[in-house]
Amino acid sequence: MYKLINQWEPIVYELLQEYMKSDEVECRCERCQVDIMALVLNKMPPRYTVSLRGEILTSIESCSAAKKAQILIEIINAAKVVGASPSHNIYIADGIIIKPEL
Ligand SMILES: [Zn+2]
Repeated sequence: MYKLINQWEPIVYELLQEYMKSDEVECRCERCQVDIMALVLNKMPPRYTVSLRGEILTSIESCSAAKKAQILIEIINAAKVVGASPSHNIYIADGIIIKPEL
């Protein structure tokens, strides 16, 4: 079984986990982390490859220090955007989007 892989994804994920340890982070919930990932990955140039399921092609070691620093800046910016307007309380009931007041 083949799988389409965005090579940035594991790198962004690892750097995000590091960043989540910082005090600056507004929220560490799963929804906010995935929202940050989406914002960062949408800013990266596409880098897809095909792999066999389970095969890991990219590791954080293959990423240059300069690139990691650039990704970290994107993570910090994305975390600010998500922190200012989090979606963690939005849920859908019967197809209607419900956003309770915080
Ligand atoms: Zn959250």
